[in-house]
Parts: sequence; C-alpha cells; structure tokens
Amino acid sequence: MPVKTVSYYSPNPGPHLLVLGAVHGNEKCGSAAIAKILSKIEDGDIPILQGTATFVPVVNPLAYERGVRYVDHNLNRDLRVRENPVDYEDVIGNILCPLLKKCDVLLDLHSNHSEGRAFMFAGTDDPKEEAFRNILGPKIEIFGWTEAYARISGKATDQTSVGTVEYARMFGKTGITLECGQHNDPAAVDVAFAAVLNALDFLGISPDKGKLPLNQEPVLRLKLEGVYWRTDNGRLAKNWKHLETVKRGEVLAFKANGETILAPDDGYVLLPRIDCPIGDEWFYFGIR
Ligand SMILES: [Zn+2]
Repeated sequence: MPVKTVSYYSPNPGPHLLVLGAVHGNEKCGSAAIAKILSKIEDGDIPILQGTATFVPVVNPLAYERGVRYVDHNLNRDLRVRENPVDYEDVIGNILCPLLKKCDVLLDLHSNHSEGRAFMFAGTDDPKEEAFRNILGPKIEIFGWTEAYARISGKATDQTSVGTVEYARMFGKTGITLECGQHNDPAAVDVAFAAVLNALDFLGISPDKGKLPLNQEPVLRLKLEGVYWRTDNGRLAKNWKHLETVKRGEVLAFKANGETILAPDDGYVLLPRIDCPIGDEWFYFGIR
C-alpha cells in the first residue's frame, strides 16, 4: 500500500507546513480532518497564498486499514532512516524521515485511548515553538518526553523517544504532537481540523480562513516524570482517566505478583491503556 502525500506549492515564498495523520493506524481523527481540509482547498475555500502545505492523510496505511496502532513496531519510537529496513514500520520510517527533513513546521495529529481533554506534547521553550503551540487550540502542554525516556534508560539521549517531532527537531524544525482527544470521539476531528486551519493562518499560508477564536483559559503545563511499561499480566489499580489527579503514594497499578506501582508524587496519570499489550507503554505520570 503506497503512502499518499499531497503538496500545494504557492508561487509566493513562505514556510512549509507538514501535517501528518494516522502515524498510529488506529488514530484516525487527523486523517478525517485532513480529508476535510483537502476538499476545502480543492473547492477554493482555503487558498494557498504563500509557502507550501504538505499533507499525509495516512502515514501508516497498513495499520490504518487494520485499525491497529502499528503493524510490527511503534512508528513513533526510535524513528530514523534505516539502511536495511527489516519490518513494515522501518519501511514507512524511510518514507517519512525525508518528508520531516523537508518541512519547516510539523503538526502531527494523534488521538488517545482514554477520555480526556486534548493536549500537546511540547518540546522546548523555544519561542518559535511556543508561538506555534499558542495558536493550535488546546490548553494543556506536556513537557519532558525526551528527558523522561533518557532518565529511565540512563542514556544522555534515548533513541526510543524519537518520533516524528523529535526527529524533525534534530534538523531545526518546529514540531508539535497534538493529541486531539479519544480515538472514537467525533470532537477529536474538530480539534484536529481547527488546529490545521490555525496553523495555516499562523504561517500566512492561508490567512483568515475560518480559524476559531482562541480559548483564553490559562495553559496547564505538566512535566512528564515517569514512563511505565507493562512488563507482565499486571493490572491498573482502576480504570484511570487521562489527566486524573493522584496523591503521592496512591496505588497506580499492580504487577502480576501483586507488587504495587505507587505514584511518586502528587500528580497526574497520563495516557493510561487498560488494554495495553505486554511490552508497550502502559501509562505515564506527570506533575504540574
Ligand atoms: Zn498516537
């Protein structure tokens, strides 16, 4: 199955926005939002007045068709060009990496397992990135993804944490992962759609085309403190909601042998997966 990309090049110079959908095959809100945007561009409702806009509606087509997160391995971990690709996501990664190197600004649209508000994975305090985050819509920012993986692995930089935006940032690009809401919530498509319009406006590629008034509520900034992998048949202590608050010492999960995993601090349970396969990230822990 080929990976389809659609690019619009304005004759007027300007920044290059890259918008990705379905990097994870079961996260389809970005693909739906991109389809709406493309049809509006074709209808002339969204004119491309400067720069370039590239859309990849479905980055991982086989996983998308199967309705699964990935086929062989998580495309959004250890992403790099591989001379000798051995599995499906290796091949997709080799298609994706050059696209990431070509853009100036990346918007990667995801959804998540559990109910909860849309949020962004923020990378840096870089003013360019902050300005981009501020116009996308959601008011929750989670920092420290790369640092958390590095801390756990004990390596200065842990390649595991490298996904699309981390790869793009290595080449000086501005990139944001936007988690638009729960996988099957139709509102997630609206979040993704608004974010793309806002990005096109912000970059001057298609200004003033239906962007929504920005939500003025203060930004909630969280720092990712812990990454917890499901290592055995253990279970979550309860059906946690994404962004549910917990107190230090509260039981987050039980391992198969009954051993408890406790909240290291007052904080938040992030992205819990009740149906997590053994070996995948089970949940994260964040603090304000
Ligand atoms: Zn995802």
